Amino acid sequence: MDSVNIARRPTRLVRVGHVLVGSAAPVVVQSMTNTDTADAAATAEQVYQLAQAGSEVVRITVNSPEAAARVAEIRQRLDDQGCNVPLVGDFHFNGDRLLKEYPDCAQALAKYRINPGNVGKGAKGDDKFAFMIRTAMELDKAVRIGVNWGSLDQALLARMMDANNRSAAPLPLPKLMQEALIVSALESADKAMEIGLSPDNIILSCKVSNVQDLISVYRELGSRCDYPLHLGLTEAGMGSKGIVASSAALAVLLQEGIGDTIRISLTPQPGEARTKEVVVAQELLQTMGLRSFTPLVTACPGCGRTTSTFFQELADDIQNYLREQMPVWRLQYPGVEDMKVAVMGCVVNGPGESKLADIGISLPGTGEVPVAPVYVDGHKDVTLKGDNIAAEFTAIVDNYVKT
Ligand code: SF4
Repeated sequence: MDSVNIARRPTRLVRVGHVLVGSAAPVVVQSMTNTDTADAAATAEQVYQLAQAGSEVVRITVNSPEAAARVAEIRQRLDDQGCNVPLVGDFHFNGDRLLKEYPDCAQALAKYRINPGNVGKGAKGDDKFAFMIRTAMELDKAVRIGVNWGSLDQALLARMMDANNRSAAPLPLPKLMQEALIVSALESADKAMEIGLSPDNIILSCKVSNVQDLISVYRELGSRCDYPLHLGLTEAGMGSKGIVASSAALAVLLQEGIGDTIRISLTPQPGEARTKEVVVAQELLQTMGLRSFTPLVTACPGCGRTTSTFFQELADDIQNYLREQMPVWRLQYPGVEDMKVAVMGCVVNGPGESKLADIGISLPGTGEVPVAPVYVDGHKDVTLKGDNIAAEFTAIVDNYVKT
């Protein structure tokens, strides 16, 4: 990986299970399940898949007694598979009751996500919030105070609107809404500390669904505190729109050193794997040069010089192969994630890109001799031809990693 030197915004360091979150640690990839947590087998399986794909922390919804009753079992199922990914409980409305009535759930989770807009109003809401914070203190758990545009604390917003109306220089409504998000997160963190929670156990997030709003909110939030920040564009959307919007927003912030954990919230299309959001998050960090997870394949787009879709298929197959091997390879072959592989469509840019990669192959384009030279460490190694090029190239990649 080309090293980049982006100064991170200095933060406290928070421990979430065995994962450290903060500016002294790499930016952490998170994801969330979409199974019914009451279905322990299905949820444990999806958490496992997300962790295998590279999610370093996984959030599960804990929304009912049935869900809370199964959290410890989910943790146990994961432990039995040798999967130690920390679990985060996503609580809304009834988190205090669930943590109280299901102490094994409270213990099994590494972090509690609390949404100040959904805890409750007035003294009753304060009591519920305080109970969750005290539980986190007793069990030494991290807390994410996660404010969301769609569930902003309405009492706080009303109070701020009143004050704004009386102000000599009132903020325009969009700015006031952004300010309300930030104040909600910071005031909740202050409240948690007044109750006794260490600031070293607090992570903040302020999620919105608009790219420019997210950038503004996090820049401002980051300038007013030293808590680690969890980044995510909420309701990013489906398909390419969700990927582009999340990447646009998060890349700007990460480039400025803001953000200590990220989630790419994609709406899965029917039949699409939940793990895609993990792959996109990893690729965002890796293409920015912030972290390495999996060898990435460089491939040309193809053009009128390509005779078939074979080279695109080979590029896709090799990328998938590399990704599938990583759970084992990253343990057995440290540094393999930095490997670069090129799969190119013709002689115009094929040899050049192949020589720049650790391993590259230049497939024959229109009118070229039907052979595929393979380059290893910048030098031509072998020339493949015939119907077995894909398998032979995969074997060369495999051998390169293992020797
Ligand atoms: Fe087209 Fe060849 Fe360039 Fe690929 S390398 S885009 S096939 S000219």
